[in-house]
Amino acid sequence: MEKYFLKVEDLARRFPSARGGPPLPVFEHVNFTIERGEFVCIIGHSGCGKSTILNILAGLDEASDGLVIMDGREVAGPSLDRGVVFQGHALMPWLTAKKNVEFAVRSRWPDAGRATIDEICARYLALVGLEGAADKKPAELSGGMKQRVGIARAFAIEPKMLLLDEPFGALDALTRGVIQDELLKICAATGQTVFMITHDVDEAILLADKILLMSNGPGARIAEVVVNTLPRPRSRNAIHRDPQYYPIRNHLVDFLVSRSKDFTAKPPADYDPLRPPLVTPGLTDTAPAIQTSILQSQGATARLA
Ligand code: ADP
Ligand code: MG
Repeated sequence: MEKYFLKVEDLARRFPSARGGPPLPVFEHVNFTIERGEFVCIIGHSGCGKSTILNILAGLDEASDGLVIMDGREVAGPSLDRGVVFQGHALMPWLTAKKNVEFAVRSRWPDAGRATIDEICARYLALVGLEGAADKKPAELSGGMKQRVGIARAFAIEPKMLLLDEPFGALDALTRGVIQDELLKICAATGQTVFMITHDVDEAILLADKILLMSNGPGARIAEVVVNTLPRPRSRNAIHRDPQYYPIRNHLVDFLVSRSKDFTAKPPADYDPLRPPLVTPGLTDTAPAIQTSILQSQGATARLA
């Protein structure tokens, strides 16, 4: 029995360079693990390769090097073991909310009867608060509702792992908060294993057990793993009062502002790809006041482009 539910080993993805030179690695030597039931967020600047990693985990893209082992088997091609929520909702526009979910449920359980399928669709639409919108087509739904249908669809196939690519990025702050709360509840109830890309450090601190910090590309890698020691259950309206909140938040923002540039395409001379990245188990240092004021001047949510 593998110790980890998901193991990513020395992963690299190269694309041909524009001028016909040697292929350029978007990222390389990417190593990390996810335990069963763990909620892992990945943060890094735009273009560092987060979506590419998620697509490789989904089996929708192939790595140039390295491998992904999930639940004891190598990931090779897409599978209903993994539910994906893309940044755009990716719903079929000619189908109602219910039919969009049903399409996935039928693929997962081709032999299920009408009553079973109806029950599963109703249960997952209710879970995301869309009981009343089952018969509406995507064009009749708000952005937040469409995104919820996407989440219901991913959950309805009861995947071993949920892969979320900035699923709330396009939503207004209020809707984002509501869906974050729903996701927290669902994960607490089901013990779902999640890999989620976000550019919102506050979202990562609210949701994640572990936050992977990805350096800038080319040649990006997982530079640090921050273990989020804020106790659960967490509430969006109260976590900022926890004394650990700002130290963790400052650590993440400092990474994005400066340390994310420290890695280059050429690994440092002493870099050992088999050595796990630096793990920061919670953070205990107190935040210097000056950092806090810099953050405030940058805006309350410190989001990336
Ligand atoms: P992120 O999700 O972190 O913003 P992506 O994974 O979407 O980043 O992309 C990482 C990098 O890979 C980008 O610089 C992008 O231009 C490059 N890239 C992605 N797909 C291709 C492709 N098919 N051909 C060439 N370059 C690509
Ligand atoms: Mg992306």
